[in-house]
Amino acid sequence: MRIAMISEHASPLAVLGGEDAGGQNTHVAELAAALAAAGHDVRVYTRRDSVALPVSVRTADGYDVVHVPAGPPEPVGKDTLLPYMEPFATWLAQQWGSGEWTPEVAHAHFWMSGLAALNAGRRTGVPVVQTYHALGTVKRRHQGIQDTSPAGRVDYERILGVAVDRVVAQSRDEVRELVAMGVPRSRMTVVPSGVNLRAFTPVGPVAERVDGLARVLTVGRLVERKGFGEVIRAMRAVPDAECVVVGGPPAGAIDDDPQARRLWALAAACGVADRVRLVGAVPREEMGRWYRSADVLVAAPWYEPFGLTPLEGMACGVPVVGTAVGGIVDTVVDGLTGDLVPPRDPDALGAAIHRLLADRERRLAYATAALDRARERYSWTRTAAQVAEVYAAVTAARRPTRVVA
Ligand code: UDP
Repeated sequence: MRIAMISEHASPLAVLGGEDAGGQNTHVAELAAALAAAGHDVRVYTRRDSVALPVSVRTADGYDVVHVPAGPPEPVGKDTLLPYMEPFATWLAQQWGSGEWTPEVAHAHFWMSGLAALNAGRRTGVPVVQTYHALGTVKRRHQGIQDTSPAGRVDYERILGVAVDRVVAQSRDEVRELVAMGVPRSRMTVVPSGVNLRAFTPVGPVAERVDGLARVLTVGRLVERKGFGEVIRAMRAVPDAECVVVGGPPAGAIDDDPQARRLWALAAACGVADRVRLVGAVPREEMGRWYRSADVLVAAPWYEPFGLTPLEGMACGVPVVGTAVGGIVDTVVDGLTGDLVPPRDPDALGAAIHRLLADRERRLAYATAALDRARERYSWTRTAAQVAEVYAAVTAARRPTRVVA
């Protein structure tokens, strides 16, 4: 199939760890690669955010990335991108209508991409599949007035849910949220993200360890809702262990990062500063080294649409302590591949980490089960096959039925 993926702010080519570059970038890159490997013709459309970017790039993974001129050719925070979705859509419609390459289906990632895809799809007859990656209702609930999303986001997301040909949700929790918003369950298919089982393996190079200290690893963009503050507070109950935080700006720039400073100040206030290390952003290809170096991976977000890092840890054979939110409830089986605790509860988190670090047998059992679960259920090949089934269904539903005389 000819497949267009729209990912307005999250380029599959971006460096990860920064404020707006994380799971969606990985998801789009891996899904595009897996679909291309299955023989599909895939183009990913993302906003051109630098004058240095060529119009189109052929990736080593066999798909194209097309840089769409919409808004200034410079980085723009995702919460201010909405006005550029109209020119984005017009550009897509012109391309798809020109006859050079018309997709059979467009898959939008994030709500703003959905608006652009729907607009272009309406003008060119291309069906649209929507994946949200994050929902405005959930963000507003947790962030309150700190949520800088454009006004109207929740309404747009609801409208998209009924206007697109199909919604691909990533977890059971997301389905529940969408139903509560008024999107009919019958319009959704659940397909989880995957994990790159070649990049994330239990055997391979290991990041250097400190003698005599167990390692608690936590990974993600340095934003408050990722719960790094709770992990640092939890370290008070975890003696003889260091906490390594991967993510944020590159190592050279981390000293000036306001979020990093906040975490250091908190570590000092908790009396654990000598056991907390912020290593900054790590390139995707080096992430396996860090996961493998950990005794336990902690994923403690306040909320999480899907959460790739627990799965990446599981694929490296690392037991997980996670908060029971969003997609983590689907990926981590409590008491079998890891432990789940309530969000924003550093005492419960500390107790769970402490218990697991004190119990080698339990860690081994969790690690084995986690690896097995990641391999059986979360390969990108499997995810791509399920998504391709959705594409086939929406294109078939659009085809006029032939009347046999
Ligand atoms: N990541 C990375 N380098 C970093 C920090 C994160 O490559 O320094 C990757 C991580 O391996 C994962 C993604 O960024 O693939 C984060 O995805 P997740 O779903 O956990 O969080 P999101 O960023 O979508 O909120």
